[in-house]
Amino acid sequence: EPVSPGIIIPDDYKGYHPDFFCTPKLYQGSLECVLLPGGVVRDRIEKLAQDIAEDIGNEPIFALCVLKGGYKFFTDLIDHIKKYNHYATRNTIRISVDFIRLKSYKDDAAAGQVQIIGKEDLSVLTGQNVLIVEDVIDTGRTMKELLTLVKSYHVKSAKVASLLVKRTKGNFYRPDYCGFEVPDKFVVGYAIDYNEYFRDLDHVCVINEHGKKRFST
Ligand code: 5GP
Repeated sequence: EPVSPGIIIPDDYKGYHPDFFCTPKLYQGSLECVLLPGGVVRDRIEKLAQDIAEDIGNEPIFALCVLKGGYKFFTDLIDHIKKYNHYATRNTIRISVDFIRLKSYKDDAAAGQVQIIGKEDLSVLTGQNVLIVEDVIDTGRTMKELLTLVKSYHVKSAKVASLLVKRTKGNFYRPDYCGFEVPDKFVVGYAIDYNEYFRDLDHVCVINEHGKKRFST
């Protein structure tokens, strides 16, 4: 059972018209809607950090960021856990960080096997309480494979925080901590990309057909 199951955004939710928010000129005309304004995303992350800190208690955390899409969620989350630490009367939770990169997407389609790049030696995880921090869970395949890999290093515990989980048909995987459960649409923004574009967009948005074409490889 997830500790934080996430705010449910229903399938018929229309979001906000992009013109109501500041977005880079480059992306104007390429967005179907603003699904989650940046402020809402940040406020939700603050609460996730509190849930995680309370759930983990006095144990040290080894936070593993899944790059690149997870980097903003990761820094926001860790900053809030740190802040929570500063105000706590109990002992400080020690937080270590590390980074991995996975490659599986081209355009908006999953491309075969999950591949870890940028870090071959995961033996630093042995004996740690690992918190995997990911941007989006879609079919759940990536996370299941990554969890199997992480657990093979004899970690003390392995938990998963994902900013978004899509209600994709056939995905029954749910992370321990989830920001939002969203419809099965391709999302961008808040460091989440489409062919390396849209990472510099502050809000989580749904890309439209024009945008998919314009920024395809
Ligand atoms: P899964 O294995 O769960 O199907 O896919 C998860 C991976 O695909 C994650 O690493 C995530 O970055 C990427 N992904 C899934 N859905 C989206 C999406 O809507 N937008 C982007 N940019 N990436 C996605």
